[in-house]
Amino acid sequence: MRTRTALCALAIWVGAVLVVTGCAAPSHERLTHQQPTRPEAVAPTPAAMTVGGPARVFDRTQHSTTDPASIWVVVNKKHPLPSDYRPAISLVRGYQVATPAAGELTRLLDASDDADLGFKIASAFRSYDYQAGVYANVVTSSGQEAADQVSARPGHSEHQTGLAADLVTPANPACDFEACFARTPGGRWLAQHAWEYGFILRYQPGSTAVTGYSPEPWHLRFVGRALAAELRRTHVATLEEFFHISGGDYP
Ligand SMILES: [Zn+2]
Repeated sequence: MRTRTALCALAIWVGAVLVVTGCAAPSHERLTHQQPTRPEAVAPTPAAMTVGGPARVFDRTQHSTTDPASIWVVVNKKHPLPSDYRPAISLVRGYQVATPAAGELTRLLDASDDADLGFKIASAFRSYDYQAGVYANVVTSSGQEAADQVSARPGHSEHQTGLAADLVTPANPACDFEACFARTPGGRWLAQHAWEYGFILRYQPGSTAVTGYSPEPWHLRFVGRALAAELRRTHVATLEEFFHISGGDYP
């Protein structure tokens, strides 16, 4: 793949006519099974679009968005999980994570270690009952209205899927679970690299009305490399917008 990309770049450089069909390969083929690809290589150039026709449409039905065990499941304040749902679990650095996400989370953490970021997992899988306790505590301390801004009601937390993980960075403990996490070296690294491992920052600035939650730059959600790359390529910030699924506040 890299060889072909290099050949294409060379062809453009020498001004050759792009008749080599491989130069305009649909982006979908590249996204599905490949190693992390640089965004400029993922997005087809106008020249490639002209020569090879429009890129193949990303298949949004590859995985279910309603099956709790699907890596594309959308869980929000309008779409809860069954109270008895528990994913297949694997351990990542001592934390319970849904098995489909475990390998990539391990690779992400290893890469962040190589960058001297020292992330620690603060929370991963949380059962329905555990979330009920978390939410009840926040309601007791802050009242229900305030609690609903920061804590999911049981059944409405992505953490019950096991596909979500909250990271903290010991270098900036004052920013753990705070908006300033986004401006720490770790927060910046996640925003730039999480997609390479199939994770998205699920709750981004400007999307509260869509997701129902304030920005959480520490909250990773595994969706697989293909979808993470497609969301990045198309600049779509939320799963709700990408799949046209309702979100926002509780019904
Ligand atoms: Zn979280």
